[in-house]
Amino acid sequence: MKLTVVGCSGSFPSAESACSSYLVEADGFRLLLDMGNGALGELQRHIGLYDLDAVFLSHLHADHCIDMCGYFVARYYRHDGGRCEAIPVYAPEGAEQRLTTAYADTPSDKSMSEVFDFHTLKPGVFEIGPFSVRTEKVAHPVETFGIRIEHGGRSLTYSGDTGVCEALVDLAEGTDLFLCEAAFTHGKEDIPDLHLNGREAGAHAARAGVGRLVLTHIPPWTDAERNLADARHVFGGPVELAAPGAVYEL
Ligand SMILES: [Zn+2]
Ligand SMILES: [Zn+2]
Repeated sequence: MKLTVVGCSGSFPSAESACSSYLVEADGFRLLLDMGNGALGELQRHIGLYDLDAVFLSHLHADHCIDMCGYFVARYYRHDGGRCEAIPVYAPEGAEQRLTTAYADTPSDKSMSEVFDFHTLKPGVFEIGPFSVRTEKVAHPVETFGIRIEHGGRSLTYSGDTGVCEALVDLAEGTDLFLCEAAFTHGKEDIPDLHLNGREAGAHAARAGVGRLVLTHIPPWTDAERNLADARHVFGGPVELAAPGAVYEL
């Protein structure tokens, strides 16, 4: 299993990175986790525009899904005059309507579903291509799912956006790589059920006994090095900051 960080900026893009988007590949299958602002452009540094096999959207905040509107254009109005087949899109309830509204003038209310086969997420276990996945609701103001992906005896877990969350500890238990958001700063922002700080991300990783922690979704106005130090303070395993283009072989 190969993980590529397409974009990792939290809430809005930075000068260096697009918003949340992570490419997971195995057996030639390509699954994208989230497609936030700027991700569609960055994605094309790594794979062709039409090489995706499935998309997972953790939630419907713009910094996780808004580039699906641009991707709709690319798939619906192909340069060669054809139209792409629908690829599966696993997303919270209401995704099709939300993206259709965001786009504003799709030919019909059903146009999105001609190129995206929407599947409504629920907590549970299912397959996406060669991956065994498990989803759980995490703690965020809108319905949001964390995801654990397993393949060939290896696993990665992505938090989505979340505050302190027992279900996330459970989801990440013993995972090889834990891609966990750390948008807040310890001692500065303390709003329940919104985001984790570095210390909390580290604590979740420690309790789950993960192999490696990668901090992500850090907004441009947050001191990433401070969050890294805070996470290291409470988690003894390897910790690093996600960076655009970073590749992890699992
Ligand atoms: Zn976000
Ligand atoms: Zn969010």
